[in-house]
Amino acid sequence: MSVIIIGAGMAGFGAAYQLSQYDVKPVMFEAQSYYGGHTASFKYKDGFIFDDGPHISFTKDERIQKLFAESVQGKYELLQARVNNYWQGYWIKHPAQVNLFGLPKDLVKQIILEFIENKERKQNGADIKNYKDWLYVQFGKTFAETFPMQYGKKYHTTVAENMSTDWLGKRIYTPDISEVLEGALSPSTPDVHYVDHFRYPTENGFVSYLNMFLPLADLHLDSKIIGINTKRKELRFSDNRTAGYDKLISSIPLPELIQVIDSVPPDVREAAEKLACTKCVLVNIGIDRSHISDSHWSYFYDQEYIFTRVSYPHMYSPNNVPEESGSFQAELYYSDKYKPLDREPRECIEPVINDLKKCGLIKESDTILHKSAKLVPYANVIFDLERSNALKIVHEYLDDQNVKYCGRYGEWGYHWTDESFKSGENAARSVL
Ligand SMILES: Cc1cc2nc3c(=O)[nH]c(=O)nc-3n(C[C@H](O)[C@H](O)[C@H](O)COP(=O)(O)OP(=O)(O)OC[C@H]3O[C@@H](n4cnc5c(N)ncnc54)[C@H](O)[C@@H]3O)c2cc1C
Repeated sequence: MSVIIIGAGMAGFGAAYQLSQYDVKPVMFEAQSYYGGHTASFKYKDGFIFDDGPHISFTKDERIQKLFAESVQGKYELLQARVNNYWQGYWIKHPAQVNLFGLPKDLVKQIILEFIENKERKQNGADIKNYKDWLYVQFGKTFAETFPMQYGKKYHTTVAENMSTDWLGKRIYTPDISEVLEGALSPSTPDVHYVDHFRYPTENGFVSYLNMFLPLADLHLDSKIIGINTKRKELRFSDNRTAGYDKLISSIPLPELIQVIDSVPPDVREAAEKLACTKCVLVNIGIDRSHISDSHWSYFYDQEYIFTRVSYPHMYSPNNVPEESGSFQAELYYSDKYKPLDREPRECIEPVINDLKKCGLIKESDTILHKSAKLVPYANVIFDLERSNALKIVHEYLDDQNVKYCGRYGEWGYHWTDESFKSGENAARSVL
């Protein structure tokens, strides 16, 4: 049986790992000249390492923890997550709803009053049609509009009214009133973020978590698939090669998958076009100072700041930077559907440096040792109100064509690395 996996990311290797348990070695095709997908890491000549977006492993699944640990032969950093927020010149601990201490008094008072008033609405099961309704019910209008709706607009590139709530899970902490009050009265609060501890490979960046899985597939890089004939069970590549398969597992983004399959019905194409995803411009900066922040990453709410989140990769592993230096990775979000990217990624570098200076993270005395920018064409799936119906049409079609889809962009969900890996494993089980 020949099994082909498209995409050499977490999901692809999850599938390869599961197949290896049954002595099946799949052939894996990857469009890029490197493997890892979103979990790839790039080592620059100046000694800085940046991942394809800030990546840490915070899985609670002990089996995955063990597999990743074996993959790096036990060499990983184990860190307690520290996260903060920047809002209009104030730095507060994350999440804001339980860390209001130090914010303007009138704002804190209003948030608390609305939080108390809302308790009844919450208990009576308010009518929730979208993410905005959910935020109002959970937190009240003032908090919702000042924090999560501002952040959401930057991160998802669309407004909360246009989003569903089926992605929330544990992502947004919903406290009781005593936690809100405690956080408003005291600068020191318990850690309630869904990421409490995380692990990160000590050497060579996040991609090292794939070390152990590499030999499990016959991997072909620089192999972009541009055509799939599901009747003849044949793939076509951009360099005119072809390959046949018995079973096909795809981890590539659904809109791309539908584009490359022959003779897809118009309603399925139309549905695939409705699936929205953000693009991310990553701006990587290195400086000659290692103590930048006590946090591992920071969220930025103000619309006038170009970035949505800034991470500090030298805090994940000291080997991510040359000695006595520090690093920033800023994420800037765009989407074809709601906020098209209007410039080249490298044109974002100077605006990012300016904003890092404006909020005090880069000082005038710092020397910049590294600056680079990279576009991530598929970042976060946007859970807009069109997603659910469109996804059903696309998935039903793929089921019908016997193409197994997996991973963040095959399932078109909010998957973290462990979930993408397991999604690949499930796809492999289903072909077996
Ligand atoms: C900015 C950002 C930060 C994140 N941070 C974290 C984090 O801290 N922790 C965490 O656990 N998760 C994090 N995630 C989620 C994590 O990256 C994903 O869950 C996971 O990497 C997805 O793996 P995948 O294999 O499903 O997809 P991908 O990694 O995208 O793999 C798909 C592969 O398919 C290839 N491909 C596409 N088209 C073709 C084609 N036509 N032919 C051949 N190959 C093709 C792509 O090049 C890619 O390598 C983050 C995601 C983003 C965007």
